[in-house]
Amino acid sequence: MRGMTQTVQPTVPGTREHPSLALVDTVHGSPGGRDRDELSTPEAATAWLVDHGLIAPESGLQEHCQGRLVRFRHDLRDLFVAQISMDVPAPKAVEALNRALSSAPGALLLRFDAELRFFRSAEHPMTQAVEHAMAIIAEDAASLLTGDAASQIAACESDSCQQLFLRTHARRQWCSNRCGDRVRAARAYARRREQRGVPA
Ligand SMILES: [Zn+2]
Repeated sequence: MRGMTQTVQPTVPGTREHPSLALVDTVHGSPGGRDRDELSTPEAATAWLVDHGLIAPESGLQEHCQGRLVRFRHDLRDLFVAQISMDVPAPKAVEALNRALSSAPGALLLRFDAELRFFRSAEHPMTQAVEHAMAIIAEDAASLLTGDAASQIAACESDSCQQLFLRTHARRQWCSNRCGDRVRAARAYARRREQRGVPA
């Protein structure tokens, strides 16, 4: 098993319903200490947003937009970690979320189309694609942090993992079976070494 690259990531609980958790979880730690970042380039960040239905496929992100998304991810992590540890959040993280909430026009405008008749949609020209995506993510984070599920936000207890998840079962400690298996295997290994008197 060791050294095998896993191409399909298991779905971390909560990330399907919450784009804000999914964004925070785009950095993957590994036992070797080398992080894998799903937002490492403007192209990768665009692909991630398209995958999550947050921008149209034709809107490519510029490097500064990718940078903003990465900084926003950092601020969101701050907020979630403050919630998990019952600490005071960094004021700048709260400000960043509020900025994202209010930077995209949220009003749903009335439109008319001969076939569709009346419908409503938000105003978001291409240049505001990233603002629009960040506003949706910010809205999700704000309702997650203030809703009933806030107490379920948890951090994976595997040392090499940085994933946050929703603790859908009270005893859930890990973001995935993979992390649970890894921790159990490491503990069993340490126990065997101890029994044989090998210093750790
Ligand atoms: Zn994990």
